[in-house]
Amino acid sequence: MLAPSKAIADRFGRKIEYLRVSVTDRCDLRCTYCIPESFKGFEEPENWLSHDELVRLVGVFGRLGVTRIRLTGGEPLTRRGLPDLAARLKQLPGIDDLSLSTNATQLAKCADELKRSGIDRLNVSLDSLRSDRLREITRKDCLDSIIGGLMAAKRAGFNPIKINMVAMQGINDDEIDDMVAFCMEHGFILRLIETMPMGVTGRNAGFLDLQPIKQRLRERFDLVDGVLPGGGPARYLKSVDGRFSVGFITPISQHFCDTCNRVRLSVEGSLYLCLGQDDKFEFRPLLRSGASDSDLVDAVYAAINRKPERHDFSSQPHKMVRIMAKTGG
Ligand code: SAM
Repeated sequence: MLAPSKAIADRFGRKIEYLRVSVTDRCDLRCTYCIPESFKGFEEPENWLSHDELVRLVGVFGRLGVTRIRLTGGEPLTRRGLPDLAARLKQLPGIDDLSLSTNATQLAKCADELKRSGIDRLNVSLDSLRSDRLREITRKDCLDSIIGGLMAAKRAGFNPIKINMVAMQGINDDEIDDMVAFCMEHGFILRLIETMPMGVTGRNAGFLDLQPIKQRLRERFDLVDGVLPGGGPARYLKSVDGRFSVGFITPISQHFCDTCNRVRLSVEGSLYLCLGQDDKFEFRPLLRSGASDSDLVDAVYAAINRKPERHDFSSQPHKMVRIMAKTGG
């Protein structure tokens, strides 16, 4: 039996057990639905939380019942010393699960080191298996390096590896079946994601309702409803032999705010309480003005108490100016 969670609950009774930590807002790709091509609004390095600041703050969350950490960005592998940071975070009391979201362009050279650092699980973004198309989506020639990164991660022993595919109408929706076949072949878990109206890029990305796709894949590949332990907001289908799973992250067509268990720390130390709302709590001023650990504990309680009930992606699709790279999804 699972031990009862000692995590802090928000005003709506949701236990906050999961912290996503953006270690940079910069990225080597410019995916059309994420960072605008000529974006200049990146955070100045002097505002980035240092490794020591991150370890201290995550340690406080760990003491308050957060058990799961995901390193994200921007592209986290562009942050210098990431494996060292990962190893320090993994050793913190309370942190049971450390995962990484990456575009995998630089994964081949560091997969072994990341595995040794204690990262348990990897999510890799891959929206197309066609080189030309992926270049159009990411604005970089990157298919070979991503596939090389994925294979290196497999050899390094990462299991599971999840592939995140943002499914876009008229852009890559004709490739969903190919992606299922690719993931079946390689033992990857596939997750299809609906585009979220984050920034002008996210709003103009060719939203695709995944509910009909789910029904179609169920029939085409003989899939049945499945549950993935720690699978987060995704609803899963799996093959009858259990060897393949596909998840559907459907913040628009079927939102999952009532079970949201997460908050997001940006690289400059702002804690975003909801992906689809602007409210945030600033930790950097506290960390840089001599706050005690007990001050930080009080601040975490105060922040989580402000977590909103839900996002307004459907009712107010123009509201979010912030792009996904700020908080890492
Ligand atoms: N660079 C890392 C990666 O590629 O996984 C981590 C950061 S990236 C912002 C995290 C995820 O957010 C990726 O899977 C990306 O495809 C997704 N994403 C970015 N903008 C999005 C949007 N507007 N709607 C849905 N997903 C989005």
